[in-house]
Amino acid sequence: MPHPDLEKIHHDVTAWYAANARELPWRGAAADPWAVMVSEFMLQQTPVVRVRPVWEAWMERWPTPAALAAEPVAEAVRAWGRLGYPRRALRLHAAAVVITDVHGGKVPGTEAELLALPGVGTYTAAAIACFAFKVPTVVVDTNIRRVHARLIRGRALPEQNQNAAELALAARLLPAAGEGDNAGTALANDWNIAVMELGALVCTARSPRCEDCPVVNQCAWIAAGRPEPHYKPKGQPWHGTDRQLRGAMMAVLRHSAAPVPRGDLLGAPDLAVAAGEPRIAVSARQGDAAHEAWVTLHALDAPAEQSERVLASLLADGLAQHSPDGISLPH
Ligand code: SF4
Repeated sequence: MPHPDLEKIHHDVTAWYAANARELPWRGAAADPWAVMVSEFMLQQTPVVRVRPVWEAWMERWPTPAALAAEPVAEAVRAWGRLGYPRRALRLHAAAVVITDVHGGKVPGTEAELLALPGVGTYTAAAIACFAFKVPTVVVDTNIRRVHARLIRGRALPEQNQNAAELALAARLLPAAGEGDNAGTALANDWNIAVMELGALVCTARSPRCEDCPVVNQCAWIAAGRPEPHYKPKGQPWHGTDRQLRGAMMAVLRHSAAPVPRGDLLGAPDLAVAAGEPRIAVSARQGDAAHEAWVTLHALDAPAEQSERVLASLLADGLAQHSPDGISLPH
């Protein structure tokens, strides 16, 4: 493979970003480190379009780490809504508590300090350091790995699991201090966000829009004749999975003002039965969100063994808690 002209690639991708980037509230000049941090937690597993309204409501309600830390963790889980993987809400709340207690309410600015916070892994620490504090560090997420794999390595997909070679490649691709018109660090920051955006908007997983790509003439995958992936990507099944059932149970708990009797949560009572006393301890009226959550859970008709397993995992993860009255969100 010929050596890529990195300076030209840096220039073309960052110029494309300057002209095409989405305007996202956590990217603006007004976005402080807490705003960036909340967005990074939410974006870990969830697309921008679903994150944005939840992020906006979250930041309005909890504009600082201290504001979130002052509220019960159940409120964070409730506000997380349907973003999925709600353990992120627990961890974000826990991180807010540490930031408030240990860092004077300010999100710390070094990767080492960030890594010490609950729920902050290597990627998130690097992303917050880069996007909130302009630290010229190596940021590698799924989108970036995919662009690197295609553009530089000529492969249709990155490796199935991130490895050291990918990190080394990302480090090699980072603009050096002093490159171009920028001061080096600024270009490194622009490069990280620009590659990420290119992967999200153009070099997408299923159908890359190479005709709109600013580096199509330098792309190793195009030069190699668009070879097929070197493995078959695993689909992510959803229907009938524990993840689907976890989501349905969490929705019932989020919408319940009172603890839910364990048997009702496991048995998914039939709300359609109009005669007799309702068996459930929720104020569910047809058409409201609580009712919909119950109907959704009931429609799954999950086997008892699976329901038991999923409830046990929610309790073990700290997303739900048991009391004599039933199951509720954590206090
Ligand atoms: S030319 Fe296509 S495959 Fe190559 S980096 Fe651009 S969008 Fe991705």
